[in-house]
Amino acid sequence: MSTVSDLRITLGGSERVVPAGTTAGQALDADGRSVIAARVNGELRDLAGPLRDGDAVEPVEIGSDDGRAIMRHSAAHVMAQAVQELFPEARLGIGPPVENGFYYDFDVAEPFTPEDLKRIEKRMREIVKQGQRFSRRPVSDAEARAELAAEPYKLELIGLKGAGPVQDAADGADVEVGGGELTIYDNLDAKSGELRWKDLCRGPHLPTTRVIPAFKLMRTGGAYWRGSEKNPQLQRVYGTAWESREKQDEYLRLLEEAEKRDHRRIGAELDLFSFPTEIGSGLAVFHPKGGVVRRVMEDYSRRRHEAGGYEFVNTPHITKGDLFEVSGHLGWYKDDMFPPMEVDGGDYYLKPMNCPMHNLIFRARGRSYRELPLRLFEFGSVYRFEKSGVVHGLTRVRGMTQDDAHIYCTKEQMGAELKNLLTFVLDLLRDYGLDEFYLELSTRDDSPKFIGEAADWEEATEALRKAADESGLDLVADPGGAAFYGPKISVQAKDAIGRTWQLSTIQVDFNQPKRFGLEYQAADGTRRQPVMIHRALFGSIERFFGVLLEHYAGAMPPWLSPVQAVGIPIGDAHVPHLEKVAERLRERGIRIEVDASSDRMQKKIRNAQKQKVPYMLLAGDDDVAKDAVSFRYRNGEQKNAVPIGEAVEEIVKAVEARVQI
Ligand SMILES: [Zn+2]
Ligand SMILES: [Zn+2]
Repeated sequence: MSTVSDLRITLGGSERVVPAGTTAGQALDADGRSVIAARVNGELRDLAGPLRDGDAVEPVEIGSDDGRAIMRHSAAHVMAQAVQELFPEARLGIGPPVENGFYYDFDVAEPFTPEDLKRIEKRMREIVKQGQRFSRRPVSDAEARAELAAEPYKLELIGLKGAGPVQDAADGADVEVGGGELTIYDNLDAKSGELRWKDLCRGPHLPTTRVIPAFKLMRTGGAYWRGSEKNPQLQRVYGTAWESREKQDEYLRLLEEAEKRDHRRIGAELDLFSFPTEIGSGLAVFHPKGGVVRRVMEDYSRRRHEAGGYEFVNTPHITKGDLFEVSGHLGWYKDDMFPPMEVDGGDYYLKPMNCPMHNLIFRARGRSYRELPLRLFEFGSVYRFEKSGVVHGLTRVRGMTQDDAHIYCTKEQMGAELKNLLTFVLDLLRDYGLDEFYLELSTRDDSPKFIGEAADWEEATEALRKAADESGLDLVADPGGAAFYGPKISVQAKDAIGRTWQLSTIQVDFNQPKRFGLEYQAADGTRRQPVMIHRALFGSIERFFGVLLEHYAGAMPPWLSPVQAVGIPIGDAHVPHLEKVAERLRERGIRIEVDASSDRMQKKIRNAQKQKVPYMLLAGDDDVAKDAVSFRYRNGEQKNAVPIGEAVEEIVKAVEARVQI
């Protein structure tokens, strides 16, 4: 029998009647350790929140994306509490969850030292152990101001509330005040219920501090309040937190491995490239050894494109602003472009994309259906104004060269073209040694920002989906993630330690053909608009270079190694013999050096190992007598007295076959 005060709720899809006052946690029968929050009518809530009639409730597990974010954000509260207990003068900024962890910003007179971090972490462990309860309390604007009178940054956030879209998730303010009522979360003692600490926050949080299974403070850094250099600089403390000790250990191991593979470090160690401060942030120069790798990458790509029916074009790096007016980039992409320079009374821009120039090549004369698909390829250098804070090594730069192509085809050709393209992309990436992929399909939603006919979107999306299905790879849907001008597939590649990198994109464009008035003469004599497909396989050469260095931890396969072999004489007398071997290898296109320096042999071997050279060719009296060399491979294995002819063939074959050793 249900009474008037009973609630009808939906739980896991089925209807239930529960007594009034039932909380989300009670309805879910949550233990508060694996199920740590609830999703009520689609919104994340505390388990302690009471339900209303008609609510639909779902559990949030600690190991889910939402669960982790709630746990990590709760860990940020615990950290802020620990900081204020140890440094009572510290003022609070914001403390959102981030990928793999959390941070909290503090206004303190002195930056935190590593010893401070240890103390804070220790205090956090005590708070976690005490199992303090996170307790939600709605407050009025005035109450919040009174309670947080000593926290100027929180007062500012209260002032932002209701002021419109200033609660930008990017600056984290959203975490604190959100869109609904103002709430303060009290941390209450597990036994006495006494107030231990409080924070302005929209929530939700864990039921108690005890539910944080594993955490660690990682580092500190300066961060401007709300991301603006005009504001005071705060101290940001980063931490990581996980649903289990095992997960955290796994993450810390991965982090250590990633650090070893950092391409910026490898680039310096192997003398491949650098970022001179005189040139500016995000602008790389390639040294001779990096230049060789780059040339090999480009040459191979060029050969494959030639075989794939692409035609090569070249376009300038700068252009009058008019071009980007026509393309529309000045309307929607201006913030990512370098500011203009004034020349001849007009504005010139560095190009952020090559497409508008390729469109002009298409439009340079009348086009017939017989010429389609027309595939224009260019190693095109583009410049993008990345914020200095996001510039990172070769993977996020301000100047880069794309392996860029634009394909113009008829609507009828689009399906086959996209399918071929995806096969082509995956084949090429596999040749560079990446072989674990998944695809992401970005499509439109109901938003009015998407231009073009619904039927065209439908057709292009279906063609992309079909190509993806036929590839046999996993496909992740990204509804609403398309650019306003068309759907796309992006290829996500996993590297040797399981990290995912977004590499290639294949993008259909309904916008530019219209804006540029592109057309071709169809078989029936009518003039029609071609379909335009943008695609870059590496993304950019710089970025792909960085990804490969991290994937291989600098030990590139022989075909991509800057130095493929080093001759190491046991004594000076063996140098001429190795020079002879080197000559034969050079004739076959192998990049080999002979180390005739005064270093001892062991030192020479160590140097070659540090340089990650795939083949060391050693020679002593025995080798000279037998007209042979001894191999020492990068992995330490050795093979003695290999006749020179065989040695040359082994290396040449490995390079030609692009094997990984
Ligand atoms: Zn919070
Ligand atoms: Zn393009």
